[in-house]
Amino acid sequence: MLSFHATKVFNTIEGGAVAYRDDSLTDKLRFQKNFGMDTQDSYPEVGGNAKLDEFRAAMGLCNLRHVDAEIEKRGKAVKRYIERLGHVDGIKTWRPQEGVKPNYAYFPVVFDKDKFGKSRDEVAAELAENNIFARKYFYPITTGLECYNGKFEIQPTPIAKHAAENILTLPLYADLTPDEVDVICDIILR
Ligand SMILES: *Cc1c(COP(=O)(O)O)cnc(C)c1O
Repeated sequence: MLSFHATKVFNTIEGGAVAYRDDSLTDKLRFQKNFGMDTQDSYPEVGGNAKLDEFRAAMGLCNLRHVDAEIEKRGKAVKRYIERLGHVDGIKTWRPQEGVKPNYAYFPVVFDKDKFGKSRDEVAAELAENNIFARKYFYPITTGLECYNGKFEIQPTPIAKHAAENILTLPLYADLTPDEVDVICDIILR
């Protein structure tokens, strides 16, 4: 499933898509996105209202023309981030994965306070002092959300918990220049 929400590298403002190989899913998915409805008097599936309308599809076609250039520009910002932060003790940066073509959607960084000297929250606060708004993405973890309190048996997930508490997702967008990445990195390193 692909999200085309406005915050994504490729977006249709809101909406998404499902890709599948099994042809037998075609009708099931068509019904599910359209109230579960086949014809006006037949509802073979439990469904919702999840149609991607023409207006958003048109927006997607407009954005499709720019997406390759956007990804290339994001890649340049990421390259600079890795040059500046990739070898710093106590900082673990996003790395490209073998066999995966990245779209540079996010640039997550994990801070280890013992080695780096400052916690994720302290770094985020210092950046905010300088009008740079990094996000604690994704935090809090799902098992910590109050809406699930007492509803499920929660198993310990120490690695996810550690990541959620120490991760900061640094600013990343196509028009972020390598010079601006330097400004952000200078503040973090200072
Ligand atoms: C965008 C995103 C979502 C939400 O997608 P929607 O299309 O808004 O439902 C969930 N998880 C991750 C990791 C995402 O990046």
